[in-house]
Amino acid sequence: MAIQTQLLKAREVAQASEAQLHNEVHKFKAHFSVSPQLAVVLVGHDPASQVYVRRKHETCHKLGIRSVKIELHPDITEKELLHHIQRLNADPDIDGILVQMPLPSHLDAKKIIEGIDPLKDVDGLTTSNLGALVAGNAKAVSCTPKGVISLLKFYDIQLKGLNCAVVGRSLIVGKPMALLLQQEDATVTMCHSATRNLKGILQQMDLVVIAAGKPMLFGKEFFREGAVVVDVGIHRIDNGQICGDLKATEMNGHLLAYTPVPGGVGPMTIISLMENVVKLAFNRRSNLK
Ligand code: NDP
Repeated sequence: MAIQTQLLKAREVAQASEAQLHNEVHKFKAHFSVSPQLAVVLVGHDPASQVYVRRKHETCHKLGIRSVKIELHPDITEKELLHHIQRLNADPDIDGILVQMPLPSHLDAKKIIEGIDPLKDVDGLTTSNLGALVAGNAKAVSCTPKGVISLLKFYDIQLKGLNCAVVGRSLIVGKPMALLLQQEDATVTMCHSATRNLKGILQQMDLVVIAAGKPMLFGKEFFREGAVVVDVGIHRIDNGQICGDLKATEMNGHLLAYTPVPGGVGPMTIISLMENVVKLAFNRRSNLK
């Protein structure tokens, strides 16, 4: 019998989370007499980054979170950029700092991220926050993996005991994703560009998270029938359409469930960011009192 494939869409989850965040922001304002504030640092004129930053500001606005954009010239030096970040670190009215990636190639992204005060690191990417994630007590967890877990939980996908694979081992997606799945008691295999027999490995899995960044590389032959697949990849292809790493048209009737692109992981990333801003704002300002 053909499988009824479910699309794991973000819209309903986002609505529920937004309602909850509204309440949190309201409580925050009642307690501290201001709203939490996010600072987004954008270096250069990358059109995709500009779209992502605009969406983040719009969501902040919708939820009553203040947001400020610091737009910097693409030729800025590392020293100058770190100086801007230090200024934001020192500003008591800024609760979260996000440096939009990718940065121009002359800037060392790791060094820039390390410049962010871990108490304001809304992406959870500083060594201190990544270390805390390994230890299982992170204050802010990287937004995309956090959003993936929220999405799976919303759709009642029980992770305990599942055999899961994560394709990709970046600091922003793959590594924290594998840790979070492990913390949910899944058994996790990490795959990357040097993995041998990738198809054979993925075919054994109950759940696969794909973050390879390769448009439509993964057809249905990579997954067993009835598996669940989360597609983190996002690409604008030649005809202007947006797609993920999956060949989505092949998945209906084969997978139990998968995330659409757009409308799957992307909106979850923004919601997680908002949750992190509010959480870090509560933590930091409570400690200042
Ligand atoms: P990176 O390029 O930093 O990492 C890609 C990873 O995939 C690397 O670990 C690489 O392996 C691995 N990889 C590449 N090709 C293959 C392959 N053929 N087989 C197996 N593994 C492979 O990307 P990111 O993690 O930053 O992002 C991944 C994708 O997710 C991108 O499309 C990005 O746009 C998207 N993204 C989407 C977000 C959202 O909110 N929806 C947020 C963040 C990212 P190796 O380490 O060996 O090079």
